[in-house]
Amino acid sequence: MFHIQELMDDEKCYEKIRSLRWPRSRPNACPSCTSNKIVKKGCNNRHPACRRYRCLNCGKRFDDLTGTIFSGHHQPLRIWIACMHLMGLDVSNLQIAKELGLNQSDCQQMTDLLRHGIHKRRRIPQMEGEVEFDEVYVIAGHKGHPEKIIGRKARRNRLKGARGRVRWPEKSRRSSG
Ligand SMILES: [Zn+2]
Repeated sequence: MFHIQELMDDEKCYEKIRSLRWPRSRPNACPSCTSNKIVKKGCNNRHPACRRYRCLNCGKRFDDLTGTIFSGHHQPLRIWIACMHLMGLDVSNLQIAKELGLNQSDCQQMTDLLRHGIHKRRRIPQMEGEVEFDEVYVIAGHKGHPEKIIGRKARRNRLKGARGRVRWPEKSRRSSG
């Protein structure tokens, strides 16, 4: 038995990252000082497909993964990419761990980081122009008898007062009654 990432090409994975990050697949600004005076400076010793760069302005070094979620982790980039691919197919963490030959806690940590990263980058919808909100009554289900809910009125959503062990505060009970 083999794991899928053994058949993946490191060079292609890094090429993909470079093309996603930078125009013409080359860094256009130093992550420290934003200068565009950057020169290529060999490659990472452990991951030869990972290019390194040096900023001529501030002298700092960085590589293809600096500033990304993949930076500073021991798993090779191809495992991260295979993991993301499987996440996109709605595969469970347990199954991802099996497919990639990872232990479960490593796999959990990777998927947590990826999900957190996606959450952080999500765009908050901005509404423009005239916006209208309507009250909507959504019927959860008719349980096999659609005729029974035709013409049924919406349920009252008003506070009905104290129920069970929880009591509404005095003020809201007075105003709702
Ligand atoms: Zn710099």
